[in-house]
Amino acid sequence: MLNWLDVLKFANNGNPKPDRRVEKTDYEWQAILAPEEFRITRQKGTERAHSSEMCNLFEPGRYACICCDTELFDSEEKFESGTGWPSFTQPIQENAIAYHKDKGFGMYRIETVCNTCDAHLGHVFQDGPPPGGLRFCINAVALKKVDTNIRKLTIGGGCFWCTEAIFQELAGVIKVESGYSGGNTQNPTYREVTSGHTGHAEVVQVTYDKSVISYETLLKIHLTTHNPTTLNRQGADQGTQYRSIIFYRNDDERKIALKVIEEVQPSFDDMIVTEMKKFEAFCEAELYHQDYYKNNPNKAYCQAVINPKLAKFRKLYHKKLKQAPVQT
Ligand SMILES: [Zn+2]
Repeated sequence: MLNWLDVLKFANNGNPKPDRRVEKTDYEWQAILAPEEFRITRQKGTERAHSSEMCNLFEPGRYACICCDTELFDSEEKFESGTGWPSFTQPIQENAIAYHKDKGFGMYRIETVCNTCDAHLGHVFQDGPPPGGLRFCINAVALKKVDTNIRKLTIGGGCFWCTEAIFQELAGVIKVESGYSGGNTQNPTYREVTSGHTGHAEVVQVTYDKSVISYETLLKIHLTTHNPTTLNRQGADQGTQYRSIIFYRNDDERKIALKVIEEVQPSFDDMIVTEMKKFEAFCEAELYHQDYYKNNPNKAYCQAVINPKLAKFRKLYHKKLKQAPVQT
């Protein structure tokens, strides 16, 4: 995650260029861009505040450079800044954007440009929301919305080492990150979360392709591969950080989650106590927690706790795995 010091460093020293570069003359750009697009992206223009509907758009998807189609921002990082320009907290990749010092108009600002084609996008400021604290203030004209099948799911079901190991094996799952969510402090450490005082749950954030696996299926797998009926406890792990929790990102997801809970309830003797909460922020856990099972298969916890859970999961959902077992 980039912070203000990274931005200053990149503005001073440059940041690595992406493999793909797009270079055209002004004459060539003019031929493919609308006059307003050309004025803003190639001549460092600024659109009027509140001139675009894009400010109010928070649907899932990505935002690409209007000039060269390179994806620059994810809707996950878009926020309501109240400025009248689309605002983001982070670029999609560390080197998607390049940063230049801009002393125009008697101000000292950091200009943001597309690192692939040098299109002027807007500026970046250090008054954005935590945890990164950045506000990318971008001209809507410089961007185009790209709808993708990529979505994120954030869930907790006890120790994240277990949850991560399970979701990593599913077809359609692109990435699983272990971290913390649902608490009341920014950037908690593992030690703070373990204290139970921050209110965070150990969670995994699953990036998935909804054309391969649905939100509904992922939730069903989640609820049937941990015990959602024990309040603030998962096996021997006790404390609010081990609570069963589903974060929803919009009302559709909330309704689907309620439906799935209702559907799987009959398979448990006890009442499901999974918390439902609107997603706000995900904080990635320390590096040694990532890929924990893959990196530590012989540790006692992995052998005693994760192996049996994985075995049960693989049996139940063998058709959903990345590599389905060969039928004999
Ligand atoms: Zn570009």
